[in-house]
Amino acid sequence: MREPRERPIYLDHHATTPVDPRVIEAVVHAMSVGYGNPNSTEHFYGVEASEMLESARREVAALVSARPEGVHLTSSSTAAIRTAVAHAVERRAKKAQPLRIVASRIEHAAVLNALAEAERAGAAELSWIPVDHHARLDMDALRRECRSGADLVCVMAANNEVGTIYDTRTVCELAAETGASTLIDATQAAGRVDLRFSGWGATYMVLSAHKMYGPKGAGALVTDAGSIPRSEGTPNVPAFAGLGEACRLRRLEMDEDEPAAAGLRDRLQESLLNRVPGLVINGDPPARLSHSLHVSVPDVPNDLVISLVRAQVALSTGSACHSGAMEPSHVLRAMGLSLALQEGALRMAVGKFNDAAEIDAAAEYLSSAIARARAVL
Ligand code: PLP
Repeated sequence: MREPRERPIYLDHHATTPVDPRVIEAVVHAMSVGYGNPNSTEHFYGVEASEMLESARREVAALVSARPEGVHLTSSSTAAIRTAVAHAVERRAKKAQPLRIVASRIEHAAVLNALAEAERAGAAELSWIPVDHHARLDMDALRRECRSGADLVCVMAANNEVGTIYDTRTVCELAAETGASTLIDATQAAGRVDLRFSGWGATYMVLSAHKMYGPKGAGALVTDAGSIPRSEGTPNVPAFAGLGEACRLRRLEMDEDEPAAAGLRDRLQESLLNRVPGLVINGDPPARLSHSLHVSVPDVPNDLVISLVRAQVALSTGSACHSGAMEPSHVLRAMGLSLALQEGALRMAVGKFNDAAEIDAAAEYLSSAIARARAVL
């Protein structure tokens, strides 16, 4: 591994976050001291490990205002989403008929894949809610879909590319009016915006530790909708201890951390706007995650910019890799962005361990890379 000072400035916090040192302490404690098997509750060590899982459940519940009994620990948001969709399919009222699922066009691939699989199996019928140029959801279309008999509504709490925040409270209210269930993917929003699982009457909510300064391999499905099969095997107690600590810290610190992140993000945005002629800000600035900055440089391919700053700054195109080839983002396409804006798209997100000096340096590296790219194109 490279020495810290040689490492590029990390601006890809939508992909994953560094782990908070206090979370690392909790993980190490669970690994070193709390090594019991949580299923071996005949003795002290098993009980201790089992209590660590209970404590993690309580912390997840407290972060999203849910009941601890409704928190099911999973290996990721992806696993939680798959479990939720399978559960909704399994308990559909009219067993002979497919579940009618309505989802936003800009859901994460983890949701899209789970839904497509249910559809292929003949267990679900899908319809889609469009978004506008800022990735804002068409709430009238959602209302219509609910009234025409949707069984399950899937809307993310915040988008992982352009950072748009969704009014999931109203989504839950609209769904409840017609008796539809809801699946809220809170992977990007948890620990950054206020989430009220019980108060909103959501059916399923998912989150993941590694998006909020916790470890990879730990997530949760929150639901009060009946029995959820337990994951197989011995639970990864250290990862879940990390999830619990990450949730506790977010609950206590997000009100302070998020405005600070917005300050750094705004600094980066201003700096880039001043230095890069023609820069376009994507998404919905009035309703955007505080750390999120998605831009397009319409005349410069994003992969060229990324390759030029590779050694100095870590950021993303937001494109998905399918069978070795990069595919344009389905989110930007759903927003109706021009091809030039899609091909020049750069996704950034700052984090609580970035500082102003890093942000200024990143803006300098990026703007000069874009100028160099323009000079050779
Ligand atoms: N949903 C959203 C909105 C995400 O951003 C991600 C991760 O990028 C996922 C789901 C999948 O999360 P995990 O990595 O925990 O499976």
